[in-house]
Amino acid sequence: MSDTIERIKCLIVGSGPAGYTAAIYAARADLKPVMYTGMEMGGQLTTTTEVDNYPGYPEGVDGTKMMEDFKAQAERFDTQVRFGLVTKVELSKEKGGIHKVEVDGSKQIEAETVIIATGASASYLGLESEERLKGGGVSACATCDGFFYRDQDIIVVGAGDTAAEEASYLAKICKNVTMLVRRDEMRASKAMQKRVLNTKNIKIMFNTELDEVLGEKVVEGVRVVNNQTKEKQEIAVTGVFIAIGHKPNTSLFEGQLTMNESKYLITKGKSSKTDKPGVFACGDVQDHEYRQAVTAAGSGCMAALDAERYLASLDD
Ligand SMILES: Cc1cc2nc3c(=O)[nH]c(=O)nc-3n(C[C@H](O)[C@H](O)[C@H](O)COP(=O)(O)OP(=O)(O)OC[C@H]3O[C@@H](n4cnc5c(N)ncnc54)[C@H](O)[C@@H]3O)c2cc1C
Repeated sequence: MSDTIERIKCLIVGSGPAGYTAAIYAARADLKPVMYTGMEMGGQLTTTTEVDNYPGYPEGVDGTKMMEDFKAQAERFDTQVRFGLVTKVELSKEKGGIHKVEVDGSKQIEAETVIIATGASASYLGLESEERLKGGGVSACATCDGFFYRDQDIIVVGAGDTAAEEASYLAKICKNVTMLVRRDEMRASKAMQKRVLNTKNIKIMFNTELDEVLGEKVVEGVRVVNNQTKEKQEIAVTGVFIAIGHKPNTSLFEGQLTMNESKYLITKGKSSKTDKPGVFACGDVQDHEYRQAVTAAGSGCMAALDAERYLASLDD
C-alpha cells in the first residue's frame, strides 16, 4: 500500500460517454476532476465500429474515434485522465464527509465528491464464433444496430422482457425475426409475450439454443440445436442479436450504495444523487432502461451539475 494520500475535489470513475461528459462539465465548473478510466478506456463504444445515432456526427462515426473526441474535449478543460482501476471504496455517510478510494490496489485517494460512471456490460453466450463476429453481424443492442439490418432476416437470442422488446423493435425494421428460446416458454411478461406472438414476422423456436454463428468475416447464418431432440439445423441470417441481459459494473459498491434487484445503482428522483451525500451515478450503471450513448452523456452532465451544487451547498 502506498502511504501518500491524494486529496481531490471530484473523482470520476469510468471513461465512457457518461464519465467524459461529467468531466467536461466538472472541469468547466473548476472542480478539477480526476478521472480513472478503468480497463476499457472509452467504454463500450470502443467495441463497435459505426455509431450512427449520436447527434453531431451527420456521417456517423467510428466508436473509438468518437470516444477519442470525448477525451480530447475533457482534456481541453484540464481534466486529468488517468489509466487505472478503482479497486475499493469507502463512501462517507456524512454530508461534507470525505470518500476514500483505492486505485489499482495501492494508490489512496480522498475525494470530496465521487461520480460513478462504470457502465454495464452486455452478457453474451460465450461461443468463439459469437466473439469473433461481434461488429460483423453479432450485436447486443437492437436500438444501436437494428438499422443496419433493414429488410433482412435476423435472429434474437433470449426469452425475457428485453429479448421480447428487441424482437418487437427489430420486427419493424427487418424482414423476418426468429427468436431462440431455450425453454418451452418465454420468461417475458404476459403483455410482452402477447405483443411478440401477435407480430406476423416474428417466429419463436422453443427449446432451441444457438450452437454456432456461421460466417468468416460477417454473419452468414446460424446453427441451432433443439435441446430436446438434439436435432441441429442451419438458418440463413445476416444478424444475430443476443438479448440475454446486461450486468452493471457495481460489485465495487456492494453494501455501500442502494441497488435494485438487478444490481443497478438507484438514484434519487430525476437527479444523479445516490443515497450517500457527495456520491453521484450516471450512465448505464444506473439506467437499465435506455442504455444509449446520448442518454449516458446527458446523465453525465447532470452528475457534474449535482456535484457542483453539492460542493456549493457545503460552502453555504
Ligand atoms: C457493441 C455495442 C454497440 C453500441 N452501439 C451504440 C450506438 O450505436 N449508439 C448508442 O447510443 N449506444 C450504443 N451502445 C450503447 C452505449 O455504448 C452505452 O449506452 C454507453 O457506452 C454507456 O456509457 P457509460 O459511460 O454509462 O458506460 P460505458 O461506456 O460502459 O463505460 C464504462 C466505463 O467504466 C469503466 N470502469 C468500469 N469499472 C471501473 C472501475 N472499477 N474503475 C475505473 N473505471 C471503471 C470502464 O473501463 C469504462 O471506461 C452500444 C453498446 C455496445 C456494447
